[in-house]
Amino acid sequence: LIILGIETSCDETAVAVVKNGREILSNVVSSQIESHKRFGGVVPEIASRHHVEQMTYILEEAMAEAEVNFEDIDAIAVTEGPGLVGALLIGVNAAKALAFAHNKPLVGVHHIAGHIYANHIIEELTFPLLTLVVSGGHTELVYMEEHGSFQVIGETRDDAVGEAYDKVARTLGLPYPGGPHVDKLAHEGEANIELPRAWLEPDSFDFSFSGLKSAVINTLHNAKQKGQELPIENVAASFQESVIDVLVTKTMRAVEEKQVNRLLLAGGVAANKGLRERLTAECERKGIKLTIPPLSLCTDNAAMIASAGTIMYKAGKRSGDRLNGEPGLVLK
Ligand code: ATP
Ligand code: MG
Ligand code: FE
Repeated sequence: LIILGIETSCDETAVAVVKNGREILSNVVSSQIESHKRFGGVVPEIASRHHVEQMTYILEEAMAEAEVNFEDIDAIAVTEGPGLVGALLIGVNAAKALAFAHNKPLVGVHHIAGHIYANHIIEELTFPLLTLVVSGGHTELVYMEEHGSFQVIGETRDDAVGEAYDKVARTLGLPYPGGPHVDKLAHEGEANIELPRAWLEPDSFDFSFSGLKSAVINTLHNAKQKGQELPIENVAASFQESVIDVLVTKTMRAVEEKQVNRLLLAGGVAANKGLRERLTAECERKGIKLTIPPLSLCTDNAAMIASAGTIMYKAGKRSGDRLNGEPGLVLK
């Protein structure tokens, strides 16, 4: 079973060919980071235009690298949401055109289902399991009883983790996207600045990072007013420790409550070294099997969409020619 995957929800134009849901035949990603850098974030109009320009080249490259033609493809999977509507529409329309021209079934995939299924490529999923999704737009704890069933048991009430990282990075004068820079600095500094941790209600698996972000900004501002220079590596280390404390504590409590022995990490922030280390240590201590995808499968790519799409295709999901980009699509 060979599935062609397409992903254009944000600022990566990506096409991949995946066999039986787990074997990557090709995985081509064209990032636009350089075009958005000088604006300090993704500019939706620029993103859409890049996707239009790149799509046919990336598609050709993915097909050539996989050494397949359309006769070999069983179905086309595409991210239908959530994401930037103009960006999503480029991928969805490319997928619809290909499905129509080559008479192939079409399967719409939720972007976060894709991030979760990046783990399936690394190691076959077994159930029940829990996933900590940490990306630029999402922070969620997702419980899965079986393939294709997603129960969001906790999510952020304001900023996503990646978003908080990028905003703190900008305040510290670091380039976009700031997450990796803050992570690197954090390892050079000492977490000696007191910052809040948003635990919320005792039984809640929800998250909140905007208070922490504001606290970092206020701390820097107050120090400046007093004529002090706070070493930015210590600010980074203190911020990162607060984030990781909350993420890891809540995740391990959810693992216990849901009685799972399998945990997955997903999304771009899964690249965070501090988070990987702490989760790995906690899971070893508690005998929980932890899977973390390699960096190239943590950030946006189409192999993860093809992998999730394969599961959905096998479950009988068909999207038809009315498929549309859904910027607010809910995971379920
Ligand atoms: P979503 O999947 O929610 O739509 P997205 O696809 O834009 O969002 P990803 O590509 O999954 O997000 O992740 C990008 C985010 O990950 C950025 O905010 C980036 O700063 C952050 N990030 C990447 N590496 C690290 C790191 N080492 N530490 C912290 N954050 C990181
Ligand atoms: Mg991106
Ligand atoms: Fe993503």
